Amino acid sequence: MMHYTGRFAPSPTGPLHAGSLVAAMASYLDTRAHKGRWLLRIEDIDEPRTVAGAAENICNTLAILGMDPDGEVIWQSHRKARYEAAFGQLSNHVYPCGCSRKEIADSRTGIASDGALIYSGTCRQGLAEGKTTRAWRLRVPPLNSAEGAITFEDRWLGRVTEALSESTGDFVLKRADGFWAYQLAVVVDDAEQGVTDVVRGADLLGSTARQIHLQKLLHLPTPRYLHVPVVNNAAGEKLSKQTGATPIDLNKPLDALMLAADRLGLLLPAAAGSDLPLFWEAATSAWARRFSKARMIERA
Ligand code: GLU
Repeated sequence: MMHYTGRFAPSPTGPLHAGSLVAAMASYLDTRAHKGRWLLRIEDIDEPRTVAGAAENICNTLAILGMDPDGEVIWQSHRKARYEAAFGQLSNHVYPCGCSRKEIADSRTGIASDGALIYSGTCRQGLAEGKTTRAWRLRVPPLNSAEGAITFEDRWLGRVTEALSESTGDFVLKRADGFWAYQLAVVVDDAEQGVTDVVRGADLLGSTARQIHLQKLLHLPTPRYLHVPVVNNAAGEKLSKQTGATPIDLNKPLDALMLAADRLGLLLPAAAGSDLPLFWEAATSAWARRFSKARMIERA
């Protein structure tokens, strides 16, 4: 079996907050419980959303919390040639799309789990007269084909099945303005970094089938997945910068850590809240106990 490699892959759109800390902690603990390597990847591929200084801020916060990444930190904005190369390998499955936002909205077949519009495939047979390319889309397999449904074992949620033709339709890999889709970048990077285990928030569950589909087309291994529940605010919305999450209070790192561990359902002795090394030791054993059975599940 390959040596366990986990990763935390934040988008630098703001400081780490209580919600993103839960995802970071889960992947860090799973890595420690497996005595693996924990990598940090800055997902700054969506440049208009990137906030100057946010990546440095996240790195600094992780250091104060005692979560030190192994190896070099990689930045997606430096890796566009890699995404271009993978895109080139997919040329048989990709087609140009000239639809405007409005046309996609008008012809949509539904709304995907991440709020995106399900594309109806208007440009599949070629661009209509007078249309220019706005994006390149990946043709997804039809529902009734052998690859029509993607199934994986999530280590937290159990078996998950998704048919891309129903859930997303043909999805965008690249836009004419040079934007690379998160789905492609993540797949290329996880494979190149040798990631064996993706542990992240359940807000990304709806991306996993697209990522597995891309891994298959690119002949890359599929990691194991574990999606932890997302943290909601009092109004029941996912905690994020947009819904008013406040940055971690760096004067009280242990308070933030204890709260995140509690949200992961880990029962820790009160003493763990008084000392960083003690906290990580207790949290790692609690996590290992909880996932000891799940650890035995091997990729089929
Ligand atoms: N960059 C993504 C985010 O912050 C996470 C990607 C991943 O873990 O696969 O939401």
